[in-house]
Amino acid sequence: MVEPPEYSDELYALQVSRLREQLVRITRGSDYYRRLFESQSLEPGEIRSLADYATWPILNDKTRDRENEVDSAMAEGHPFGTHLTVDPEEVVGIGTSSGTTGTPTFSHLYTSADLGLNEAIWARSLAWMGVPKGAVVINAFGLSMWAVGSIAVSALMNIGMRTAAVGAEGGPKRLLTVANAVHPYLLMCTPSMALRLIELYPKELGTGVSSLGVRAVYLSGEAGGASEQVRAHLAAEFATEAIFDGMVGGFGVAKVSCNGAGHWGLHHLTEDYFLHELYGPDEERGMELVDGAIGRVVYTSLLHQARPAIKYMTGDLARVERTPCPGCGLTFNRFSILGRTDDMLIIRGVNLFPEAIQDIVQQFVPLLTGQMKLIVAQGDSVLNEVPILEIESNASPESEEVRAACTEIETRVRDTLRVRVMTRPVPGGTLASEGRKGRLVERVGNRRVEESRR
Ligand SMILES: [Zn+2]
Repeated sequence: MVEPPEYSDELYALQVSRLREQLVRITRGSDYYRRLFESQSLEPGEIRSLADYATWPILNDKTRDRENEVDSAMAEGHPFGTHLTVDPEEVVGIGTSSGTTGTPTFSHLYTSADLGLNEAIWARSLAWMGVPKGAVVINAFGLSMWAVGSIAVSALMNIGMRTAAVGAEGGPKRLLTVANAVHPYLLMCTPSMALRLIELYPKELGTGVSSLGVRAVYLSGEAGGASEQVRAHLAAEFATEAIFDGMVGGFGVAKVSCNGAGHWGLHHLTEDYFLHELYGPDEERGMELVDGAIGRVVYTSLLHQARPAIKYMTGDLARVERTPCPGCGLTFNRFSILGRTDDMLIIRGVNLFPEAIQDIVQQFVPLLTGQMKLIVAQGDSVLNEVPILEIESNASPESEEVRAACTEIETRVRDTLRVRVMTRPVPGGTLASEGRKGRLVERVGNRRVEESRR
């Protein structure tokens, strides 16, 4: 089978056999899963097809993770959750979720074998992006614990990449200094960090960022990597068409876009490592992945051992496309993330994903930085007030052109999303998440909302 494998009967058979082996393994090795399966009358040994498995309900999510971690800390003396399926001593890589939705959970745990799998998915992803072995790679994501941080760095080093783990923690100026010294083939960072670099480079070094000679950019952690304006701007400034958006790391997941300004979803590059299912809003069974289907994202790790994702709801809402990709012509399942289900707001009866507003804001890059934040009152997801939309600009927030852009954004939001927002421009750098995953909604006290309104 070539890597990454496109759809075939051979791949399907491999998925089913790996799935059954994984479910049987965790039933034998984990009291937690044995009891869970028994209590819901789920029979791992009877899985004969992915359609059989689609009848199973969602079993895990972040809330369940937290509960299991509290339980294991009390009862078993380790924080990795009662759904850990190996001995705690076998966990040699410890990573957490990014923590954007509250306390981080120990979502990314690795045995030695799991670290090997992680190397394989990075090797495959870099090959997809055309990055040759031995290339200089800068990892400018937040390094602390997150799956794309220190764990990714060790994977990159072990597969022979010359890896500069600059991280986001030192800020964009430090990144610029190191990048200018090593001239990376591949730059890995959030879209907001890449955009900051474009602004900063001429100020610090007197030339455009294209003189870095970056051949490819890998974006993750924020929605901006899917915006055509952002991609086109990055391609022009870095002088490369190889702009990739993706989600790689943890659970065996590797989903990466093809290159160019267009964005036709994230290609599922590791169908042989993890199952990607969609569940309807109130459905307790997986949907058939027909072209255009939209649902809640549910992962199952086929090979990961330590704490595999098993019917794990990630909190994302996504659409699948199965036709040959308009960008590259290949027939992988392609997934477009539409938003986070826990960020969804209901504004005067209209459902709104903040990512949809960000799509509109990012049409104004580079006048605006593309960063935005919706300010809503604490705990409110159902709003009757018009929410404040803070927007970062590269030009002065008081300038004529920024004001005009704000007015135009309000109009486009109203016309396309059927909600009203009140824009408030703020200077560049105010909302930047400094390379970590940023949130698009900030829930603040009522007083802060009132202050913003003035
Ligand atoms: Zn493609």
